[in-house]
Amino acid sequence: MKKDLNYIAGLEKVIKKKYGDEAIINPRSGWSDEKEQDYANQVKALHESESPDESFEDLNGVLIHKKLIKERKRKQCCTCSEKIKNLDDDTCYTKYQTCFKCYINYIEGREQRWLQGWRPNNVRENTTNNSRPSSGSG
Ligand SMILES: [Zn+2]
Repeated sequence: MKKDLNYIAGLEKVIKKKYGDEAIINPRSGWSDEKEQDYANQVKALHESESPDESFEDLNGVLIHKKLIKERKRKQCCTCSEKIKNLDDDTCYTKYQTCFKCYINYIEGREQRWLQGWRPNNVRENTTNNSRPSSGSG
């Protein structure tokens, strides 16, 4: 409880510094019934405009929009065909259409080559030995 009060007091200080005294005066003082009604209407309209099937799913403690999850499910790495499973994969997929693993293996530090159209060979087949593309002589 005490901690909360200190926190709020701290916030008020910051707000006051930034916006001046008016900002922390009870908002009711500059508030009329008319305005309140208007605000209530806006909030109502906002809620009604959201379609009911739009919702969020808890993914490892992060709320993700279900639409995004659906999209992610059908994404797969263009190099090894692995599914895009996590945020790392997703970030790399957005940029390079690969999973995180392939980004590390083939793209990191060589983005230019990738963007120019270079793609690793023999990756689509299930190779047991993890051969990296030869680099060096160049
Ligand atoms: Zn991959």
